[in-house]
Amino acid sequence: MPKKKQKGPRPKHVPQRTCVVCRCTHAKRALIRLVRDADGRVHVDPTGKRNGRGAYLCHNSECWNQAIRRGALARALRIDALHPDDSAALEAYARALTPLTIAE
Ligand SMILES: [Zn+2]
Repeated sequence: MPKKKQKGPRPKHVPQRTCVVCRCTHAKRALIRLVRDADGRVHVDPTGKRNGRGAYLCHNSECWNQAIRRGALARALRIDALHPDDSAALEAYARALTPLTIAE
C-alpha cells in the first residue's frame, strides 16, 4: 500500500479564539482575554493565564462598546450584569485600544 504523500512539516496548530461580539476568529494572541473571577468581577487578562471563565474580544473598539453596553460580555461570562466599576475600567481600556492590523 502506498503511503499518503505528505508535503513538508505539518503546520503548527495555532489555537483560535472568537470575539464574543463580531465572532471573528483570530489566533489567541490577537484577541484580548477577559476573565470573570470567583466574585463575578471582570478583569482584562493580558497574560491569558488567569483562572476563571474567559471571553475574548478583538481590538475593535466597536466590539468593546457593544460588549460592555449591550451586555454581550456579561452574557458570554454568564453574569447578570457587569459591575459598574468593571464597566468603567473596561471602557477606559477600550478607549486606549489601538486598532491592530493582523497579518493572516
Ligand atoms: Zn470583534
